Amino acid sequence: MTYIFTPPPTPAVPVSGNDALFAVNRIYCVGQNYSDHVKEMGGDPKKNPPIFFSKPANAIVTGNQPVNYPQATSDLHHEVELVVAMASGGRAIPVSEALNHVYGYAVGVDFTRRDLQLQAKQGGKPWDVAKGFDQSAPVSAIHPVGEGSHAEEGTIQLAVNGELRQQGDLSQMIWSVAEIIAALSNLFELKTGDLIFTGTPAGVSAVNAGDRIEASVENVGELAFDLLGEQQG
Ligand code: MN
Repeated sequence: MTYIFTPPPTPAVPVSGNDALFAVNRIYCVGQNYSDHVKEMGGDPKKNPPIFFSKPANAIVTGNQPVNYPQATSDLHHEVELVVAMASGGRAIPVSEALNHVYGYAVGVDFTRRDLQLQAKQGGKPWDVAKGFDQSAPVSAIHPVGEGSHAEEGTIQLAVNGELRQQGDLSQMIWSVAEIIAALSNLFELKTGDLIFTGTPAGVSAVNAGDRIEASVENVGELAFDLLGEQQG
């Protein structure tokens, strides 16, 4: 096969303890999956069940590389999230089988242009420009699943310039990892290489160019990077 243009590189994430990379197929994201975050965003956890959206695969940033402050926003927010890496997929996966499809877990940041998201919510418009922009998905190395070591509890947190901004526990997720996989697979055929960002706990806030961001999920991994560039607006 020849191509008109050189094909773009395959987005891929390093794997702890392995020289081979995890090639990314799609990035799915869950919104409003921790009740304390739903409340801080002005929602009612009982009336606002988790929702799905997506980012392009090439939105990932790996290896603790710096992120450039994006254009078209003056209110960039961090959202620390557990990321699920899928080894296999399918449609209509039962909750009881869902974790068998997981390759491993990572920690990621779902960067959000909050000002554009508020405009989208108010106008009943899609979230793509608020969520799916370049470099909007920094992610740590993937920690492969060991025997019985699925990420079902443990501290998830994020600090900016050494100041703790977000802290929660994976056990606070409204939908568990297995329930997320089952629900997503009723909407999309999940595939090998899919990443799933599973939602953020409370404490989201704005970051600025020059900030240092450090995030972690207990027993999963750590992510630390600098935000570069000039803030606009
Ligand atoms: Mn999020």
